[in-house]
Amino acid sequence: MSVPQGRRAVLAGMLALTGAALTAGAAPLPEGPWPDGTVIRGGHYVVIGHRVPLASLADLAVRTDRARRVVAAIWGPVRPVVLFPETDAEAGALAGTGATGGLAALATADRVIVLPSGYAKLSETGRDVVIAHELTHVATGATRGGRVPMWLSEGFADYVGYSGSGLAVRTVAAELAAEVAAGVLPDRLPGPADFAPGAARLAQAYEEAWLACRYVAERFGERTLVRLYGGDVGTVLGLTPAEFTAGWRDYLRKEIG
Ligand SMILES: [Zn+2]
Repeated sequence: MSVPQGRRAVLAGMLALTGAALTAGAAPLPEGPWPDGTVIRGGHYVVIGHRVPLASLADLAVRTDRARRVVAAIWGPVRPVVLFPETDAEAGALAGTGATGGLAALATADRVIVLPSGYAKLSETGRDVVIAHELTHVATGATRGGRVPMWLSEGFADYVGYSGSGLAVRTVAAELAAEVAAGVLPDRLPGPADFAPGAARLAQAYEEAWLACRYVAERFGERTLVRLYGGDVGTVLGLTPAEFTAGWRDYLRKEIG
């Protein structure tokens, strides 16, 4: 769409703080999937919306730049492309996936795609967490063809996503904390089946993964957690898988028991 001159001026003012620029769909775009999309281009990111209110797109741009800085501080530089489609169906088609129910955003190899209905339900903090989580997947190359265990790829994305959120551990891991307080401790790290859509303990799987990464960062340091992404607990932490699991379970007891 071509943005009316008046609204464009307003948006330019809103975006001044982030140093972003707005361009209409007619301009040459890097990876825009829509001929009538609206593009907000920051110094280190691009946000593209399709029939999304300009204020919502500008808000997403601010969050994207904030998330980009969080990811850069922990992992390293990332230059994100974030798409904000009009409908969930459009988002699913862009991602090449079927059902996206319950999600607020997802990551492909090189971009983040917002799922409008899920994203709309999130709190302000929740939106920041989700964008930083998905941006982490893009920055790290997610599971790198299955070479990174899922507890690590999802846990690390949440570790980055929740860093600086100010949320208490028991708030973020409420479902798992209820189990642990009742004396039920997980006996193994979550695997792919635990992260499948509709899994009975899906929330707990994310919380277990997040706390496994938090455990590594607190005991061995954040740099070591980052190094773990390219290695394994044996070579990077000097622990057997059983020792690592035992240490993580002790940490769960201490943090949320
Ligand atoms: Zn994820």
